Amino acid sequence: MIPSVLPTYARAPLTFVKGEGSWLITDDGRRLLDLGAGIAVNALGHAHPPLVQALTEQAQAVWHTSNLYHIPAQQKLADMLVDKTFADTVFFTNSGTESCELAVKMARKYWYDKGQPDRTEIICFTGSFHGRSSAGIAAAGSEKMTTGFGPLLPGFTHLDFGDHDGLNAAVSHKIAAIMVEPVQGEGGIRPLPDACLKGLRDLCDQHGILMILDEVQCGVGRTGKLFAHEWSGVAPDIMMVAKGIGGGFPLGCVLASEDAASGMGLGTHGSTYGGNPLGCAVGAAVLAEVGDDAFLADVNRKAGLLRQKLEGLVAGFPDVFDSVRGQGLMLGLKCKATNTDVVTAGYDAGVITVPAADNVVRLLPALNITDSDIDEALTRLTQAAERL
Ligand SMILES: *Cc1c(COP(=O)(O)O)cnc(C)c1O
Repeated sequence: MIPSVLPTYARAPLTFVKGEGSWLITDDGRRLLDLGAGIAVNALGHAHPPLVQALTEQAQAVWHTSNLYHIPAQQKLADMLVDKTFADTVFFTNSGTESCELAVKMARKYWYDKGQPDRTEIICFTGSFHGRSSAGIAAAGSEKMTTGFGPLLPGFTHLDFGDHDGLNAAVSHKIAAIMVEPVQGEGGIRPLPDACLKGLRDLCDQHGILMILDEVQCGVGRTGKLFAHEWSGVAPDIMMVAKGIGGGFPLGCVLASEDAASGMGLGTHGSTYGGNPLGCAVGAAVLAEVGDDAFLADVNRKAGLLRQKLEGLVAGFPDVFDSVRGQGLMLGLKCKATNTDVVTAGYDAGVITVPAADNVVRLLPALNITDSDIDEALTRLTQAAERL
């Protein structure tokens, strides 16, 4: 008999009933150190007092009104995002895949309005992940996600990272946009080198192509800048955001330049929940902390500390681990053992990590993880490695 919850997830035998900072507590009272943060979502850990306060204050005022009316929390968060990023305008969604939907629609509408209605193709990269909606799976294009779900949304071309010949050959007057993650998350913590991001920007500029960055996982302070592309010095035209921005409340957004957003006038897009007062109140509280330069400097300091310790771990267990990769607090342990065995051994040692493609174990701790919790993380990861 089919379970009452549609059985699409392989769940670990863990049930968490409480969270405190970087710790999660199970229904049988075990405390696990959380280096997964709900897949880069709990940017400020669990039950962070300013977020609890923002949520409860908004909950006591008004939960939902719809976008038929003005929403002060939404306006506030949009102003903050515009102030701190390349963007001139923001549309709020509830998830990363909804941000993907709008990014694709916005790019196509842009060219339609410019009198080039056939300019609809979007170049994407193998190993990418853009969510599970029809546009998301077509954009990522992997067999695993698309098999059986055809006909797929047309108009996506897939290239490998580093395939410069393929890229140059793919560029034509049909290309509306290039969509790329500055650091692939699900794909196994694969950073796109800054020089490549710059090269893509140049290519886009030469051909008038829109650059869409998917910063759903690598954004919101995760790499040590507010958004990962800032390391390269280039800016996108359209950016997808979700995960960390809500700190655990379902919230996403699409940021865009005025020009890129020019096709999206009255009535062209909408969402019932998108930009809901609760989500935006929490999002503004997240951004108030994560968008602070001193906070980001500390993320970089802690990232250095964690990375150095992980290099030591890899050196100490050469049969289990191959190498460390990633940026900031978006780190991957490329494994020699099977990554899911490493994750399971971590559960037994009381530490939560997240598997990714390419036999990688992801470490995506809360950005405000304490130094002593980083020490404890290494103790527990060492115990996990000893078990293998
Ligand atoms: C998680 C993720 C998505 C999809 O976000 P959902 O909120 O699960 O829809 C899209 N892109 C990237 C890079 C992601 O990591």
